[in-house]
Amino acid sequence: MKPAKLQAFLPLFYLVWSDDLLTQKEFSTLKDFINSLHVLSQEEKEYLLSKVDISNPPSRNELTQWKLDIEKSIQDKSSIKSIFDIAKALSGSDLDLTPIESDFKKLENDLGILGEEALQNFKTKADSFTANSQTTSNFDIQKITELLDGKEAPIIKRVKSIISRPEFAYETSTDINVFRETVYNWCKILAEENLGNMAYPKEYGGGGNVEDYFAIMETLSYHDLSLVIKFGVQFGLWGMSVQSLGTEKHYAKYLKDIGSLKLPGCFAMTETHHGSNVKGLETTATYNHSDQTFTIHTPNKNAQKEYIGNATVHGQMATVFAKLIIDDHDYGVNAFVVPLRDTNGNTVKGVTIGDCGHKMGLNGVDNGTISFDNVVIPKDNMLDRFASVNEKGEFESPIPSDNRRFFTMLGTLVGGRIGIPRSALGCDQIRIDNCHSLQRSKKTIWTRRRIRSSDFKLQNASA
Ligand SMILES: Cc1cc2nc3c(=O)[nH]c(=O)nc-3n(C[C@H](O)[C@H](O)[C@H](O)COP(=O)(O)OP(=O)(O)OC[C@H]3O[C@@H](n4cnc5c(N)ncnc54)[C@H](O)[C@@H]3O)c2cc1C
Repeated sequence: MKPAKLQAFLPLFYLVWSDDLLTQKEFSTLKDFINSLHVLSQEEKEYLLSKVDISNPPSRNELTQWKLDIEKSIQDKSSIKSIFDIAKALSGSDLDLTPIESDFKKLENDLGILGEEALQNFKTKADSFTANSQTTSNFDIQKITELLDGKEAPIIKRVKSIISRPEFAYETSTDINVFRETVYNWCKILAEENLGNMAYPKEYGGGGNVEDYFAIMETLSYHDLSLVIKFGVQFGLWGMSVQSLGTEKHYAKYLKDIGSLKLPGCFAMTETHHGSNVKGLETTATYNHSDQTFTIHTPNKNAQKEYIGNATVHGQMATVFAKLIIDDHDYGVNAFVVPLRDTNGNTVKGVTIGDCGHKMGLNGVDNGTISFDNVVIPKDNMLDRFASVNEKGEFESPIPSDNRRFFTMLGTLVGGRIGIPRSALGCDQIRIDNCHSLQRSKKTIWTRRRIRSSDFKLQNASA
C-alpha cells in the first residue's frame, strides 16, 4: 500500500477484511474515522476509502502481502502491545499518530479488534503466545496414570499395545459391510489374545477376571466404539447371558467357543414394541410335552427382535428372551439359546433376519431384526439357572416370586450398565491426556473411582 505514511492503516484494514464477521456498520465506522482525520489530505483519504469498499475487496495476494509487511515491521519489537503500536511501527516518521491516538484506540474498541488476541494475527509461529509458553503439566502425569490404572495397569498396557498394531488401523470406508467385517476381524484378534473370555471361569478356558474384563472394555474405547459394542455384544451380552442364566451343561457346551469367537452370537431381548418394557415381550417359548422341546415363535411384527447386535451378519446363535408357555399357562420371560445360522452363515429354517442398516454411529456393528416362525429347540436350550421345566413337564424355580425371578434374570444387563459408563470414561480419558487442567482430572478420577467401586456393589447385588 502506498504512500508510505498510509501503511499505518494496514493492520486495521487487514483485520477488517480477514474477519468475515464484520458488518456493514463496522465498515461505515471505519469510513467515518478516515474522513475525520485532519492529518490526511483529501487524496490520501480517498485512497484509504478505496481500500474499505465492500464492493471491491482486496485480493487474497494483497491480504497476504499486507500481513507480511505488518509482521516484518513488528519483528523483534517486544514493546508492541496493541494495534495502535503496530500502526506507529508501520508509519515510522512519515506520519505522527500522536494527535489521533485516542480516536484510533476508540476505533479499535468499536471494531472489537483490541488486545493480545488481535495481535496474535500478526505474530509469526516462532513468536506466538503458545510458542513462548512452556508446555508443562501442573501435575505428575506418571503418578496420575498409576493412580487411575491401579492394579489394572498391566491389562490396560497390554490392550493399548494390541490396539496400536497396524491391523487396528482405523477403518475409514463408508461402506458398512467393510466396516462390519473390519470390526469382526478386530474382535477375532482380541479373542486370540484371550481378552474376550477374560470374565469367564477358568475351567471353561476363561481368565476368571471380571475386573480385567471391564478394564479391557474401557481401554478399547480409546480406539473405536463400534469395536467396544461388538466386543461387548459377543463376549459380554451373549457370553455372559449364558454364564449368568445358564448352568453347567451350557457352560461346557458354549463358553469356550463363545470366548474364542468360534461361536458368534446375540443377546435378543428387545422387540420392536418392547424396549424398556421387557415384561411386555410377546415372543413365546411353548413347551412340547411329547418330545420335550420348545417352540420359539414371533406372534406379530411388533414382537420381532429389534436392533439386535451381531444379528445381521455374524450371529450363529442367540440368547432369546421369550415368555415360557406350558399348557397355555404363561410363566413369564425366560431365556433360551436358539440357533440362527449354520457355520456357513445360512439362516436356519423358520428364522428371518433383517438389517437395521445405517445408524448415526456404531456402523461397524451389524444390528438387525430377528423373527421366529415356530422354531423348535431342545429342552436343554433353556437357560435354567433361575427357572426350568422338570422331567414331568412342570415349571420349577428356586425363586418362588415371579417378580424377583424376573429382576434376578435382568441382572445379566448389569454388565452393560458397567461397561458402557466405563467405556465413556475411556473416551473422556483421551481428552484428559491432552488437557492441562488438574481440576478436570480430579473430577474424572473421582467419577472413575465411583463407577469402579459401584461396579462391584452391582455385581454382588446381582449375584
Ligand atoms: C446401538 C444399539 C444396540 C442395541 N443392541 C441391542 C442388543 O444387542 N440386544 C437387545 O436386546 N437390544 C439392543 N438394543 C435395543 C435397546 O436395548 C433398546 O433400544 C432399549 O432397551 C430401549 O428400548 P426402545 O429403544 O424401544 O425405547 P423405549 O423403551 O420405547 O423408550 C423410549 C423412551 O421412553 C423412555 N421410557 C421408556 N419407558 C419409560 C417409563 N416407564 N417411564 C419413563 N420413561 C420411559 C425411555 O427412557 C426412552 O427415552 C440396542 C439399541 C441400540 C440403540
